[in-house]
Amino acid sequence: MYIVLLGAPGAGKGTQAMEVSQKLGLVHVASGDLFREVRESDNDLGRLVKSYYDKGELVPDDVTIQMILSRLAKPDCEKGCLLDGFPRTLQQAEALDEALRKQNKRVDRVISIQVSEAELLRRLSGRWLCRKCGAPYHSVYAPPKKAGTCDACGGELYQRPDDTEATAKNRLEVYNRQTAPLITYYTGQRKLTDVDGEKAVEAVSRAVVAVLKDR
Ligand code: ADP
Ligand code: AMP
Repeated sequence: MYIVLLGAPGAGKGTQAMEVSQKLGLVHVASGDLFREVRESDNDLGRLVKSYYDKGELVPDDVTIQMILSRLAKPDCEKGCLLDGFPRTLQQAEALDEALRKQNKRVDRVISIQVSEAELLRRLSGRWLCRKCGAPYHSVYAPPKKAGTCDACGGELYQRPDDTEATAKNRLEVYNRQTAPLITYYTGQRKLTDVDGEKAVEAVSRAVVAVLKDR
């Protein structure tokens, strides 16, 4: 099963991917996580990714598509995966369809997580992540038991450099301009289901799992 989680920055894609991948035993592939790793590299690719990432702009399609398709070619994705943050442009969606079609596979379902813009900004400004295991926290909605420390693994928590107010606002604009058209694309393929992302984490994941079990 190849599942795409679609939603604006802060909608809860990473949070839901962690919950749902555990519940359904699906591999979680997050383009943002892959780029955060590449961004740390002291080479041309690392510097290129950093130059887009730090402004809240999308990394160019050719680089992104190549990175994700080589990740999908690994054996753990052979039977499917949960895609979080990819595709984010029409060109990426078409490249994904084409690559899967060549193997007689396809995107099975797309979940669009809906959250209002005011709530997205509240979520991004309060987001903390574990440096070690990637678990998401929020200073108000999901605070860790001990400030600055991950409940799950004891790792150090950090705030993303692109979660500052100005960069987060730009990322929402980029989403509306470049990614929102995918809603029409996947609606046309009759694969899209909307899920209300403003409910509590557990309620949202129950809704996502229900959609995936229903297909
Ligand atoms: P995305 O991957 O879509 O950018 P995240 O999963 O990282 O979003 O979530 C953004 C922030 O919102 C995190 O701090 C997370 O803890 C919080 N969050 C996620 N889902 C919910 C929810 N349903 N209710 C309240 N806060 C949430
Ligand atoms: P995310 O963790 O999904 O919020 O992504 C963080 C950043 O990584 C984005 O703002 C982009 O700079 C880059 N990125 C992640 N996924 C993609 C994608 N599919 N296409 C282009 N850039 C991406």
